[in-house]
Amino acid sequence: MTLPKPDSLYVHIPFCTHICPYCDFAKVLYRPEWAKAYLKWLKEEAAQRDCGLFSTLFVGGGTPSALSEEELEDLLSFLSKHLKEGGEFSLEANPESLSESKIALLRKYGVNRVSLGAQSSVPASLKTLGRNHDFALVAERVRQLRDAGITNISLDWMYGFPSQSEEDLRQDIDAFLSLKVPHLSAYSLILEPGTSYAVKGVKPLSDDMQQSYFETLRDALAQEGYERYEVSNFALSGYRCRHNLTYWKDLPYIGIGVGAAGYLGESRYTNTRSLGLYLEGRYEEEVEHLDESSLLEDYFLTNLRLTEGFKESDFKQRFGFSFSSRYQERFDRLSSRGLLEQKQGSIRTTSRGLDLLDTVLLELFD
Ligand code: SF4
Repeated sequence: MTLPKPDSLYVHIPFCTHICPYCDFAKVLYRPEWAKAYLKWLKEEAAQRDCGLFSTLFVGGGTPSALSEEELEDLLSFLSKHLKEGGEFSLEANPESLSESKIALLRKYGVNRVSLGAQSSVPASLKTLGRNHDFALVAERVRQLRDAGITNISLDWMYGFPSQSEEDLRQDIDAFLSLKVPHLSAYSLILEPGTSYAVKGVKPLSDDMQQSYFETLRDALAQEGYERYEVSNFALSGYRCRHNLTYWKDLPYIGIGVGAAGYLGESRYTNTRSLGLYLEGRYEEEVEHLDESSLLEDYFLTNLRLTEGFKESDFKQRFGFSFSSRYQERFDRLSSRGLLEQKQGSIRTTSRGLDLLDTVLLELFD
């Protein structure tokens, strides 16, 4: 089946005002001369990738709010021309590099969703994470965004990092809930090779403790009406991130910028992580043509992250055969262990299955 044309655009801004010790994203310290040149090449890449109009735009990083006001205006005025009427326009920001005047620019150019890197409310935890804001500033930015009319706000939240106590976690739960934002993304610390944490041999909390912290957090959010709609993402009704749903529903998208990736249905491309190469216009690093087994793996890998799973009719339309004709036996095994279920024509992970997603996927691919 031919998939629709990409309707989502991801734009990577690799600049940060400081580097966090656990970070594995494509990022560099902000330098104005690089930022100016980068924006020029970003527009060039958008033209070469034939970017038209999209239903969702997502500016991520790095730290997009690390750009100067002039650079931010340049970027947003360019991107706003690529947004369809009624589209979702998201931007990631850090509390310390956002400001009232930058928020005014977001509003002016139609950004209608902001994801703030809050991470924790506990000063010692923020220090451990190498963050240089405090939670009062997070609260202040949330207020400023709302005053400017941007109410679709998400907070990034980390848990399960070294030295975090249960009391710290409880404090975070109270603080994050007190801001009443409609979307929360909660991630446990993953020690990626090559990061400063990994080099120093920092150890995260044990898997059991991380799981127990996650359950505490998940239950507290559920009580306040947040729905866990994806492994790490929680939303009040009507506030799921439309852009990220494109990824999780395995639909095509275009990505531009350093380290960005794009999925065009039958192929996937990945851009260079080297700013130097990007600034020479050599942006694309790899193109992978996807055979049926890769397409199936990607389909499960993404859709089973969603609590609603996927419709069997969608699966059949996409692959030309029914899920049960190839996977019934594996489904039965996973279902008997309480990890997968079939409900109202959909295949989905149970709550336990979501927590053991790697196991589910391995057994499906087996
Ligand atoms: S975690 Fe975010 S702010 Fe920190 S270095 Fe990575 S991209 Fe930059």
